Amino acid sequence: MKCLHGEPAAHSTTQNGSFWFCNQNPTCNFFCAEDEGYMYEKAITAWRATKQRHPRCGGQSKLAKMCVVKDLMKVNNGRPFFVCGEKTKPCSFWMWGDVQPLAKPECRHGLPCVVCKVKKEGLNKDRLFFSCPKDKESSCRFFEWAPDEQLGFFQSVNVSLFSNGP
Ligand SMILES: [Zn+2]
Ligand SMILES: [Zn+2]
Ligand SMILES: [Zn+2]
Repeated sequence: MKCLHGEPAAHSTTQNGSFWFCNQNPTCNFFCAEDEGYMYEKAITAWRATKQRHPRCGGQSKLAKMCVVKDLMKVNNGRPFFVCGEKTKPCSFWMWGDVQPLAKPECRHGLPCVVCKVKKEGLNKDRLFFSCPKDKESSCRFFEWAPDEQLGFFQSVNVSLFSNGP
């Protein structure tokens, strides 16, 4: 088993089971349960094929953590994605690991947009949209719906995202 560095991953067994993880410094945040190793091997191979660099979430210097969609009922089952590598207070960063990232549109300030989710009850509840990264007062009110493909993905990971971590 190799981590995202391409180095041999470390192995450890605890009461909770056996795990593979990265023991390089700085870490690539690779972590998976032993019986899920085959999923991660496939996921890492798919990521390498895109030739993209290991992503970092916005503002934080940590490398993003790779996860795999583990829900057999989802069409995206087995696909790798990256989330914030911060354990205690992760930000909302995520992206697919097996495709080149979609470029986020720029707002009228010329800044890369943030992805938001509709919270209001109604037809558009839970849809994703791009908006200005500035706060309400200085916002340029840029608005654009995000592609629905990302919406389905976001919902599928949102449920289990932070319960599977180390
Ligand atoms: Zn590593
Ligand atoms: Zn983050
Ligand atoms: Zn703006």
